[in-house]
Order: sequence, then structure tokens, then C-alpha cells
Amino acid sequence: MKSYVLAAAVSVMTIPAYSNSEIVVTRAGSQPSSAGPAENFTGSVRVDSRFQGSGLARIGGGTVTFEPGARTAWHSHPLGQTLIVTAGVGRVQEWDGPVQEIRPGDIAWIPPGVKHWHGASMTNGMSHIAISESVDGSSVSWMEQVSEEQYRN
Ligand code: MN
Repeated sequence: MKSYVLAAAVSVMTIPAYSNSEIVVTRAGSQPSSAGPAENFTGSVRVDSRFQGSGLARIGGGTVTFEPGARTAWHSHPLGQTLIVTAGVGRVQEWDGPVQEIRPGDIAWIPPGVKHWHGASMTNGMSHIAISESVDGSSVSWMEQVSEEQYRN
């Protein structure tokens, strides 16, 4: 009886996934680059290769490129965020924590609800792949900008 209930629950939960079961390859160049909006970023920021899971998946993200001095505003993610650095020299900091330098191959995990920012170094640009899961359609809560004083710490 117990295993029957479990099997029934699993089959109900997997229906949306099976209704959209084909692999989707989003080709390079099929989505235009977009600019990071000024209310959420300081400096020049470009977003490429956006992705979003389908069905029950909550995962989404993209590749974000920051020019020297550019960074996000302070923000948090309800289910956390993974950053995989692919180029340049960057920085990441949580509220009341030290600024940490990040370089290609580094992976930063920002736990759920942690206030933080990420961006380029003062002298070098930085690109990272950003991956996060959404709750009720939202994967980020934006806060105030990172001041020059905070950034230069
Ligand atoms: Mn973040």
C-alpha cells in the first residue's frame, strides 16, 4: 500500500516533465545580448546565453560579462546561486564579509537568502555563468547599489 501511494505520487509529479520531453538546444547567437539594467547594476554589464528549464524545473541563468569596475547591486537569491567564472578577474562579497577575488575555474556558491554582490575587478573585466532556481517565478531580490567605498574595500 505504501509503495503504491509513492508510485502514484511520482507518476503525477512527472507528467509535466514527460509532456515536454525533447532536448532543446539553444544555438549560440540565436538570442541577442542584453544590457544589465541600471537599477540593478553599476557600470557596463552584458548578459548572453540565457537559459530556463521547462516543466517542473526551477533552474535558469545566463552568462554575465562585467567591464572593469562594473558590478551587481546588493541582492539575494531565494534558493541560492552558483557562479562559475569563465574569464577575467572578478570579486564577490557577502554583507559583512571580505571581498573575495574570483578567477576562471573558480565556483562560488551563494547560499539561499545571503545578501551579496558580484562583479569585475577595478582593472579587469570578468565573465561568469550564473545559475539559480526560482520560487514563484522569482530567482532574485534586488537591494541598494554597491557604493564606490564598498566596492573598493
Ligand atoms: Mn547573485
